[in-house]
Amino acid sequence: MNRFNLSHGPASAPRGKCPGSHKETRRDSRQLLVASALLGAALPVCQATAQESAATEQLRGWSSIVTRQVFEVADNVYTAVGITLSANSMIVGDDGVIIVDPGHSPTLSAEVRREFEQITDKPIRAIIFTHGHGDHFRGASAFADEGSEIEVWARANFGAETRAAAEAGFVSGGAGLSGGVRPADTQGGDLSPEQTVQFNGPPRPMSPEERATPVRRVPPTHTFTEERIELEIAGVEIELVAAPGETADHLYIWLPGERVLFAGDNVFHTWPNVYPLRGTNRSIRDWIASLDKMIAEEPARVVAGHGNPLMDNAVEQLTNRRDAMQWVYDRTIEGAMRFMTPDELVEYAALPEQFASLDYLADYYGSVWGTVRQIYAQEVGWFDGDPLNLHRENPVRQSERMAELVGGVDVLLARAQEAMAAGDPLGAAQLAQHVTRLRPDDPEPKLLMADALDALGEQTLNAPARHYSFSYANLLRREAEQQ
Ligand SMILES: [Zn+2]
Repeated sequence: MNRFNLSHGPASAPRGKCPGSHKETRRDSRQLLVASALLGAALPVCQATAQESAATEQLRGWSSIVTRQVFEVADNVYTAVGITLSANSMIVGDDGVIIVDPGHSPTLSAEVRREFEQITDKPIRAIIFTHGHGDHFRGASAFADEGSEIEVWARANFGAETRAAAEAGFVSGGAGLSGGVRPADTQGGDLSPEQTVQFNGPPRPMSPEERATPVRRVPPTHTFTEERIELEIAGVEIELVAAPGETADHLYIWLPGERVLFAGDNVFHTWPNVYPLRGTNRSIRDWIASLDKMIAEEPARVVAGHGNPLMDNAVEQLTNRRDAMQWVYDRTIEGAMRFMTPDELVEYAALPEQFASLDYLADYYGSVWGTVRQIYAQEVGWFDGDPLNLHRENPVRQSERMAELVGGVDVLLARAQEAMAAGDPLGAAQLAQHVTRLRPDDPEPKLLMADALDALGEQTLNAPARHYSFSYANLLRREAEQQ
């Protein structure tokens, strides 16, 4: 992953239903709207009490799992969490230390280094990148002093996902892949810090000066193409093992002496992000095979790419993760062979209770429903078997048919408003979207659709889907303001 900002989307200003409502904050108005939606009734807006959705509460719980601390994972193995966006580790050898995943920001990664220097003053001999996402490597200069001869290890295809995106033309300024191909941000990067709940993020937002500080790149000096290599660095026996999953360039690090495994982002406290909404292909089959290899090591402890290390039941967690992913894969393929469409498969391949009850497999960052759709897209392709999908119409023509059916565009808009008032934001958004197509210069349906998307986002557990809903709502409001 690149960034966790669990946001609360800004809501539109109240629409004048309440005397004195101008004193409400934007957040208050959104909460009232959501509270109304949750209660399933068209409550007078002024009487609804502000309350968060169950999804938001669960996300806050997820966020609170990680606090700033350094774990002693094993003798001579330490992992810092809650300082940079990723988990950053130090392995202490005879005459030096090895850093695993230095973090995303030279400033915050320097804080990690200071924490580690409280533990030992041995020099840094090597850095290992588990994969080529910026939240794991951009802070490397905090550990690699200029002129030092530190070994920097990664797989030979390091940066494969970023390169693939760049080759496809998806380059989004300094934001890496966070923008991707989408019109709005899937990671919440455009939402204000006040509207965010951090997961394993920095304890404070980076200042403008920190953001503006140029990052000195620390590229890999040593790479490998083999399935597995064995190294000895600072007297420590280390194995680096190819493990494609969240990215094609992933590796895991195995310390046979301590029986500690550094899993990178192939393991952390969420359903795996098999398909990032920003638009990238990831192979669930590779990911499952990599988990099989990790399980076979029988690790005592597993250091996750984000959040706290798995200290007690590492093999059990790895096995459940692997089995749940395999179950979703098998169920999706089985249903597809019975001519079920992706919309049907999302229900058919929902997790059974034995996996659904495990919090570390909840849809916090990846989602089961997104995984089902991705499996179908990868293994079957875009055609879902519906013959009408061979004869699709332009969206505007579809909306014209809908307006003709219900008796005109004004009726569509009125029905959308009624759905919103009745606590059905999905219905409201679907109807309002038709009106935005038929009246692209009218701000009213855009503002209504924005309110509906905020309400939908608020009820969504999956952080990227939530972010995209909020960010898209903001996009619609900006368009409406300009009209
Ligand atoms: Zn990450």
